[in-house]
Amino acid sequence: MTNSGTKLRVEDKLYQNRYLVDTGRPHIKVRPHKQPSANLLALTRVCPAKCYELNDKGQVEITADGCMECGTCRILCETSGEIEWNYPRGGFGVLFKFG
Ligand code: SF4
Repeated sequence: MTNSGTKLRVEDKLYQNRYLVDTGRPHIKVRPHKQPSANLLALTRVCPAKCYELNDKGQVEITADGCMECGTCRILCETSGEIEWNYPRGGFGVLFKFG
């Protein structure tokens, strides 16, 4: 709800965040693979920012722009080595708007 009493959708709130791209230095990388594991494939469905997609060969790719650093993909696939996950460099990445 906003102060005026109208409902605000989550998508509208997320749209108010901003993202500063660190060109050429993605903070998350997907390990090259022929076929994705079940967990890697799941990232195409569970990432709230829709950063993961299947390419035309059925492999999972990431475009980290818009990542909200929620850590879901890190929990599912970092330990297995399927992704490499780091926080963006200082000053880059998501800029949350609060309030
Ligand atoms: S940290 Fe969250 S928002 Fe970022 S790519 Fe992983 S699942 Fe998506």
